[in-house]
Amino acid sequence: MFSKILIANRGEIAVRIIKTCRRMGISTVVVYSEADALSLAVEMADETVFIGPPAANQSYLVAEKIIAAAKQTGAEAIHPGFGFLSEKAEFARQCAEAGIVFIGPNPHAIDAMGDKIESKKFAAAANISVVPGHVGEIDDVDHATRISEDIGYPVMIKASAGGGGKGIRVAWNRRDVEEGFPAVRAEAKGAFGDDRIFIEKFIENPRHIEIQVLGDKHGHVVHLFERECSIQRRNQKVIEEAPSPLLDEATRAAMGAQAVALANAVNYDSAGTVEFVAGQDKSFYFLEMNTRLQVEHPVTELITGVDLVEQMIRVAAGEPLTFAQDDLSINGWAIESRIYAEDPYRKFLPSIGRLSRYQPPLEGDHGAWKVRNDTGVREGDEISMYYDPMIAKLCAWAPNRTGAIEGMAHALEDFHIEGLGHNTHFLSAVLDQARFASGVLSTNYIANEFPDGFNGLAASDRQLDIATAVASAMHRTLAARAKLAGARGGLASTHVRSEWAVVIGKQRRRVNLSQEGDLLRIELPEEGRSLLLETLGWRPGSALFKGSLDGSPFTVQVAPAVEGFRIRHRAASLRVLVLTPTSADLHERLPEKTPPDTSRLVVSPMPGLVVSMDVTPGEEVKEGQVICVIEAMKMQNILRAERDGVIKSIGAKAGDSVAADDVLAEFA
Ligand code: ADP
Ligand code: ADP
Ligand code: MG
Repeated sequence: MFSKILIANRGEIAVRIIKTCRRMGISTVVVYSEADALSLAVEMADETVFIGPPAANQSYLVAEKIIAAAKQTGAEAIHPGFGFLSEKAEFARQCAEAGIVFIGPNPHAIDAMGDKIESKKFAAAANISVVPGHVGEIDDVDHATRISEDIGYPVMIKASAGGGGKGIRVAWNRRDVEEGFPAVRAEAKGAFGDDRIFIEKFIENPRHIEIQVLGDKHGHVVHLFERECSIQRRNQKVIEEAPSPLLDEATRAAMGAQAVALANAVNYDSAGTVEFVAGQDKSFYFLEMNTRLQVEHPVTELITGVDLVEQMIRVAAGEPLTFAQDDLSINGWAIESRIYAEDPYRKFLPSIGRLSRYQPPLEGDHGAWKVRNDTGVREGDEISMYYDPMIAKLCAWAPNRTGAIEGMAHALEDFHIEGLGHNTHFLSAVLDQARFASGVLSTNYIANEFPDGFNGLAASDRQLDIATAVASAMHRTLAARAKLAGARGGLASTHVRSEWAVVIGKQRRRVNLSQEGDLLRIELPEEGRSLLLETLGWRPGSALFKGSLDGSPFTVQVAPAVEGFRIRHRAASLRVLVLTPTSADLHERLPEKTPPDTSRLVVSPMPGLVVSMDVTPGEEVKEGQVICVIEAMKMQNILRAERDGVIKSIGAKAGDSVAADDVLAEFA
């Protein structure tokens, strides 16, 4: 076995690999760019080597620097993680030439499978059902339209070297192909330095189901069952689970057998993933093979008990697998949520910045479920524009799917992030949907369920009860404190009244509060029932309130707001006022405030750099006309006029840095 391994990656996956190495008694070297000098992975590694500027093509992607770092530190093997150099056969060869073991498959397998066109040819030859299409390069738009018409619309135009959901476009007709082919080609050239394109049938409303395979250098290949990754946004996975709610034993065995056959056909000798698209009728077609560790590998580890990183290291060191297919079985159910730095309330625009608060849920046993959180950040760290915007991969395991969903929903509730936009509320919304619970998933799930984007969800009855109880308890504590301070100042009474009115939007509820030991009883006289609240953690000033309402635990985020509190539970956010019955009466008679008219303003949806300001004061603009272009996270975002009108003033010029919500232009 190796005594020292270099990890050629960063973030959560570097941390993940270090953990297994530590357990195996292997020491670790982590390479890092300028942007990662203070990262968790660097802190945890036994040794570190600086490899250059933040841009990946000057650091993490430079094979020579990585190999030099391995030689300099005496590392015998390199684990590439995912992304970066993990699927570069050339890098695997360079490692071998330098006498260093590449912890991944042999370079022939990467060559054969790392490329979508090549892998489809291979799969077809191995009798695996592939998505119908043209398995070959396409020269020009004419060729592309001819092929699309042969296959029959809709089709998908894909970059052969593509990955991470990039370089993919659906075409429903000839015009889409004429537009899409050059676009995908340009994107592929830019993102992968390779503009080979192919076209295949677009399977409508499919599910994404993939098989984890594992091979050694002695001709053994097994599969570790499936993961379903149908919850995607723009062809990028967001929530994954294992096993899949769609599969029955027979389909599982058939998919597993095809994946193993494909792996055998290329002498696959590491961990890898064979991806399929599946119809709701359980038909399935080979999509691509990822010749590396997969982002969502933790769910497989949770249901099989196999540490995939350990297995990759062992087989790379030449050890044979110590288990056969029959030794493997599925135990329970696991779900993973990818927590991204993005703002779901602003069309999921990327969000960067400092994690001024980062409090993940506790890992480990929570009774009915287990929690695992793979992350590479700590409170105070920064999510930069240079790399993947993933903050953490949160997993929950339970004996069955219902339990895993409940565990995940609670774990998300307990995840507290501040300082940048993040998607935990959005993930909560999905986990709380009846459709998600039903298991009827498809890759269109998010587009179908959130056609107008995400704006939070209306509160359920239980959430209204939670907000009522929490606001009552906080108000009571704060009022008691105020009285106490008053008493010290010479005021007579420390008595806190017990009758209040709780106002949430248009709803007004009378409450009668009384303490019963550790519990607060919130009587709702108009409804003839009461709520029983146990406070498990909150002090004035803290942002989280943990409690249990009528015996079932919850966590909410709380913040003071004008005359009351802002209380957030999962995807619902409420403003709650606690008033005396008299002031509640007055409050009811107040005229409703009309929100200020912001429709005249064009504001920056995110922090970024103004690339161009395309209008001038006094200019008449038409709906759809470009107002300005903002660059953030290497993406150019075009802001367009949402109506016709005349520009009154502009708030920024090309070259300016702007913050989210800065006014860029104002209509007259
Ligand atoms: P999957 O593993 O299921 O295919 P993705 O395609 O979303 O999931 O993830 C792989 C992608 O992750 C890579 O193509 C790359 O863009 C991105 N990536 C690269 N390095 C890292 C990293 N260190 N952390 C997270 N993501 C990374
Ligand atoms: P990547 O390398 O970016 O992961 P994939 O080929 O795996 O590219 O495709 C990414 C996602 O796009 C899939 O998970 C699936 O949701 C969707 N997709 C890809 N090909 C098809 C297809 N032929 N029909 C329908 N959906 C597809
Ligand atoms: Mg894929």
